[in-house]
Amino acid sequence: MLNLDPRSIILMAGVMALLMSVVLFFLRRNYPPSIRGLSEWSAGPVLVFISTLFFGARGMISDLLSVVAANVILLVGLVLLYFGTQRFFGLPKSVKLWSTLVFAAAAFFIWTHVEPHYGHRVMMMALIMSALSFSHFRLIWCRGTRSVATFLTASALLIQTLAQVYRFVDAFSMPADDALMIISPTQSVVVTTYAVCILMISIGVVLMATDRLRTELEHLASHDSLTGTLTRRALIDICEQEFERGKRKPRETSLLVMDLDHFKVVNDTYGHQVGDRVLVDFAARTKALLRRPDHLGRFGGEEFVALLPETSLDEAVIVAERVRAGVEQGDAKLPTCTVSIGVAQSQPGDTTLDALLARADAALYQAKAEGRNCVSIAT
Ligand code: GH3
Ligand code: MG
Ligand code: MG
Repeated sequence: MLNLDPRSIILMAGVMALLMSVVLFFLRRNYPPSIRGLSEWSAGPVLVFISTLFFGARGMISDLLSVVAANVILLVGLVLLYFGTQRFFGLPKSVKLWSTLVFAAAAFFIWTHVEPHYGHRVMMMALIMSALSFSHFRLIWCRGTRSVATFLTASALLIQTLAQVYRFVDAFSMPADDALMIISPTQSVVVTTYAVCILMISIGVVLMATDRLRTELEHLASHDSLTGTLTRRALIDICEQEFERGKRKPRETSLLVMDLDHFKVVNDTYGHQVGDRVLVDFAARTKALLRRPDHLGRFGGEEFVALLPETSLDEAVIVAERVRAGVEQGDAKLPTCTVSIGVAQSQPGDTTLDALLARADAALYQAKAEGRNCVSIAT
């Protein structure tokens, strides 16, 4: 049976936690502030490291440090990791609950310093650690994206929970005399599980932060920063995918090309900033009037394109008219503005997306020529 020296494993766990904390510290410095929780995630493992130094010195230094301080510092470190995850998901930190529990645990350890009982201490620690690991597991499992990062971190926390529940039950038969450094198969398994879990959790949160950064960058690259609609490039990509799908299995796809009327006048009269707010309002209004599978993109200045998959020309005209009326109604706090819309539908003869776009564009010019604030259909 596996018999490992607990002191070495505890110290190894500490060193690994410290290394991960360095990685997390650099992420915190280099990642945008929108990725939250990195401060707590990098501070937590430092405390875990400090606690392992105290645990590792059990029998060599005062029990006040190697028992009371070691356990309390470890708990604070693990609570900080949990707070980091709460901030990562934009939730408030549950400071009251966990500081009460840590204080209660601290008082208990001070009491066991006066009346030492190893089994009781292990029971207390296992109880709080299993509750904390399980809360942490649940948070990541429920909130995390379905990714390797989530799976790795959540698995580590679940394993840690089970190990601590096992330790809690096992503690009933533990002696009063300190047995942390006693080499036994159970002790080896519990301490090794703890060491591996700390490493897995640290790597997991690094991956979660990296995943989040990638998602944010992808969003930045494919969305217009002012209006939040798709960029020209992103919408063309989606249109082309839809077009390819239509070639394999013919279906009706419609396109709306929308251009705000006399927008230069809005800018000249009220200023560029008000003009920007009109654009933001237009995008929000239009998005609200489209259905879920539809896509809205900003093609340039005050020109927007909406892709309506599986929509006939008649249905698209109804949507366009709804958008036109909605924009005309406008927002009382903004200058009145109207929109002209060209509508076109894909046809079996269309070999490229450009052909469809050109027809919708021609319809838009027709709408402008017909006096603006109207919907025109491509012939
Ligand atoms: P028309 O009815 O023929 O479309 O007239 P228009 O004035 O809307 O057309 P034009 O294309 O001549 O002018 C578009 C204006 O949109 C000019 C430009 O200053 C303004 N514009 C482009 N991008 C932005 C932007 O991001 N913010 C603001 N506020 N204005 C913009
Ligand atoms: Mg215009
Ligand atoms: Mg224009």
